[in-house]
Amino acid sequence: MPMPTLMEIRDAVRSGRVGAREWIDRAIGSIQRLDPQLRALISYDGDRAMDLAEQIDEQVARGEPVGPLAGVPVLIKDNICTRFGRTTCASRILENFEAPYDAHVVQRLESAGAIILGKTNLDEFAMGSSTENSVWFPTRNPWSLEHVPGGSSGGSASAVAAGVVAGALGSDTGGSIRQPASFCGITGLKPTYGRVSRYGLVAYGSSLDQIGPLTRDVADAALLLQVIAGRDPRDSTSVDEPVPDYVAGLDRPVDGLRIGLAREYFGAGLDPEVRAAVEAAIAEFQAAGAEIVPVSLPHVKYAVACYYLVAVAEASSNLARYDGVHYGRRAERPQDYIDVYCSSRQEGFGAEVRRRIMLGTYALSSGYYDAYYLKALKVRTLIKRDFEEAFRLVDVVAGPTSPSPAWRLGEKLEDPLAMYLMDIYTVSANLAGIPGISVPCGFTQTGLPIGLQLMGPHFGEPRLLAAAGLYQRRTDWHTRVPPLASAAAA
Ligand code: GLN
Repeated sequence: MPMPTLMEIRDAVRSGRVGAREWIDRAIGSIQRLDPQLRALISYDGDRAMDLAEQIDEQVARGEPVGPLAGVPVLIKDNICTRFGRTTCASRILENFEAPYDAHVVQRLESAGAIILGKTNLDEFAMGSSTENSVWFPTRNPWSLEHVPGGSSGGSASAVAAGVVAGALGSDTGGSIRQPASFCGITGLKPTYGRVSRYGLVAYGSSLDQIGPLTRDVADAALLLQVIAGRDPRDSTSVDEPVPDYVAGLDRPVDGLRIGLAREYFGAGLDPEVRAAVEAAIAEFQAAGAEIVPVSLPHVKYAVACYYLVAVAEASSNLARYDGVHYGRRAERPQDYIDVYCSSRQEGFGAEVRRRIMLGTYALSSGYYDAYYLKALKVRTLIKRDFEEAFRLVDVVAGPTSPSPAWRLGEKLEDPLAMYLMDIYTVSANLAGIPGISVPCGFTQTGLPIGLQLMGPHFGEPRLLAAAGLYQRRTDWHTRVPPLASAAAA
C-alpha cells in the first residue's frame, strides 16, 4: 500500500473524506506499533494533537477556509523549541528544559494547520552522523534495524521512512537533513542559508545551521519549504528575499537543464554500489534531455577539515551558555561556584559534545586562532568561490549524498574521525551557504537505500526542486516502502 503524502492527507482533510482526527489516530497507531523498534521519537502528545485535530475538523465542517497543511500530522526534531512539552536536544543538560516560546517554524507550521505530534531523536545538539550520540537511545533504520538511520536528524528520517508521518523537520549544519534522508530512502532538503528563520532552533554552528523538510517526495518538500520560508525579524540572518511559489514551480517544464559533475565527488572512498546508483541517476537526467557538464571544485578536498574547525569553533561559543546557572541541569553538590560550571558541564554533556567544545576552544584560543580558525575561514571562501564558478556553467551540481550507505550501529562509534569523513559530500553546501537536496536513487544488494545529492546556487531552490522533481517523475525509488512498514499497514 503506498503511503499518503502531505498533499494527499491535506486534500483528504479539506474535502472531509478522512478527517484530521483519523490521521492523528493512524499516526499514533503506527507510533505504538513501530516506535518500540525504531525509537525515532523522544516525546509526543497525542491528547494535544487530538484537540487540534478536532478544531480543524470543525472548521472544515463549518466550511471555513483551512491552511495548506490542514490536519496533517508532522514531527519536528527535538532541537526546535516548542512551548508544549520539552526540548531536550537529546542532551542530559537539557533533559528537563521547557522552552518558553515556539520557534518561528513551529508558528508557521501551526498557522498552516499542521499538527505537531511530537519531537524526534537526534545526536546530542545535532553533533553526529548516526543518531547514536543521543543521551536517550539510538534510533534505528526502518530498512534494517541493525543499521543507523544517519544523523543528526535520524529520528525525523526514520519516522518519515516508516510512514509514521508524511513529513518532518530537521536541521542541517553539515548534512544532518540530507544524509539521514539518503540512509532512509526519503527526500531531504537543506535550504539556502537565510531562507528559513532559525529563531527557536537551538544553535550549533550559527553560520551553517538551517532548518528544512524531510518528506517522501519533492512536491511535499516544496510544500513544507513554502510554509516555513521567509523573512523573520527575530533572526537577523533570515533574508528578505521573496518566497516564490515552490509548489506551482514544479509543474513547469525543466528546459535546458545543465547538470554539473565534479570529479571531486567521485573520488577514493566512494562505495561502488553508491557510485553505480548515482551514475545511473545521472544517465536518467541525460535521457531526459539534460546536458551533463564537467565542473571543477578544487577546494572541496579541504571541506571536511574546514568544516570541523568552523563548526566546532562556533559550537564551543554557542554551548558556553549551558553553565548550570542560566539553563538546564545543575550539578547536585558542587564544591564551590567554579565547580557549579565544571561539574554541570561535565555531567551534562556527552563525550562527543565535550570533544567538540575542547577542539573548538583550542582552535579559537590565542596563538592558534590564526593557524586554525582564521585559516579555515579563508578556505571556506575558496570553497564558496568554487561553487560560484561552477554555477556560472550549470544549474545544479550532482553527486552522491554520502560516500556509503548506512552502516551498522556501533560500527564507527570508536573512531570519530571515520565518522567525520562520512560528511565529505554534504558539508560544502553549508560552508558555501547553498541549498542541497537528497533524493532516493537506488538500493544496495542488501536492501539499503542510496541517495543522490543535487546542489544549486543561493536561492536556487525553484530550479533545484524542479530538477529533483523531474528525476522523481521518471523513477519510482521514492515510492518504495520498508518491509517493516508495509507489514504494519497490512
Ligand atoms: N555530521 C555533521 C556533524 O556532526 C553534521 C551535523 C549536522 O548537520 N547537524 O557536525
